[in-house]
Amino acid sequence: MTEKIFYLNQEKTTLETTVSQVRKGKGKIGLSFPQTIFFPEGGGQPADRGLIQGERWWMQVEETREEDGEIWHWGKIEGREPVGGEKVVMHVDEEWRRLMCEQHTAQHLFSAVLERDYALSTTGFSILPDRIKIEVPCQDELSPLLLNDVEAKVRAFIRERLPVRVYWENACTRIVEIPGLDRNPCGGLHVKDTGYIGCFAIVRFYRKNRDFWRIEFLAGGKLEKAFREGVKTLDTLHTMLGNDLVEGATRLVEKRENLEEEVRNLREELNETRALLLENQAETKVEGKSIVRSLSCDFEDLRMIVKKLQEKGISSLLYNDKGQLVSCALSPSWGEKVGALLAECGFRGTRTPHFAQGKIENMAQFLDLLQKM
Ligand SMILES: [Zn+2]
Repeated sequence: MTEKIFYLNQEKTTLETTVSQVRKGKGKIGLSFPQTIFFPEGGGQPADRGLIQGERWWMQVEETREEDGEIWHWGKIEGREPVGGEKVVMHVDEEWRRLMCEQHTAQHLFSAVLERDYALSTTGFSILPDRIKIEVPCQDELSPLLLNDVEAKVRAFIRERLPVRVYWENACTRIVEIPGLDRNPCGGLHVKDTGYIGCFAIVRFYRKNRDFWRIEFLAGGKLEKAFREGVKTLDTLHTMLGNDLVEGATRLVEKRENLEEEVRNLREELNETRALLLENQAETKVEGKSIVRSLSCDFEDLRMIVKKLQEKGISSLLYNDKGQLVSCALSPSWGEKVGALLAECGFRGTRTPHFAQGKIENMAQFLDLLQKM
């Protein structure tokens, strides 16, 4: 059993202890200790991050998990391999811990307001890298007006600096209480009073399915970071598009549409010219005019050129270096012969007696057989 110092003294972010056990798995080392300041992931709250340092080695902690009362710290070791019984110093990443506590406590407050004033319960909670989401069972519509109200109430409770009390109801049940507002069993870590949350904003809400809504929010340092990044992105966009972003973006979209139209026209012209050149090179045989050629163009171009040659009364078989092939036979005998060869050389695609388009596995073999034919 690992002693959970993060419950006894949450402020402690450095600890000297000794290695109990060492494990290996998936290219990482797992370490356990008699006690730890690292909070393991659980109840929607991600695990702590930080560093564990021994003599001539250190480990950036990537995962912390609890298994049967033992807390395992996983990561890659720099330096020599640690051994049981040796001394270490642990450092928890304080900034990360603070951000997680802010989000988690904000969720308590947010869910409490939803429950108390709107009879909306919370059935799921998770902290994602760029947002925090809760799940709320509700078949009715959730209006922006209602959520604006909730947001305002949460902000008012933040300003009130309500205490966040944590105590053990019995040996197994840890209670987190914001007096008069919220009382829930919870194993996570929290700020001391609601004032430490700092700021709060609902950033998105949408219906997940018939029975559930998802509401996404940000609080404290995470909200400040998202705001700063948003302002930076806006500045960049203003530099690129001018003061009126909508007008600038509309201009860009129109320009792109015009360019695409131009590309389509140029392609049409180019393929017309290609078809004309091939028409001049086509051979006249018993079964009519035909041509077989390799072209350095994509599948769509091959299709266009074959169609143009068909209109000129020429059977054609065109392919590119990616093994893509399009053919159109105007005489049944040419179509039959080509069809038989395609089947022999691993052709995959659509094929009718006159037409084939798709990919061929063994192009060299196919061409060799075609030449002999
Ligand atoms: Zn909690």
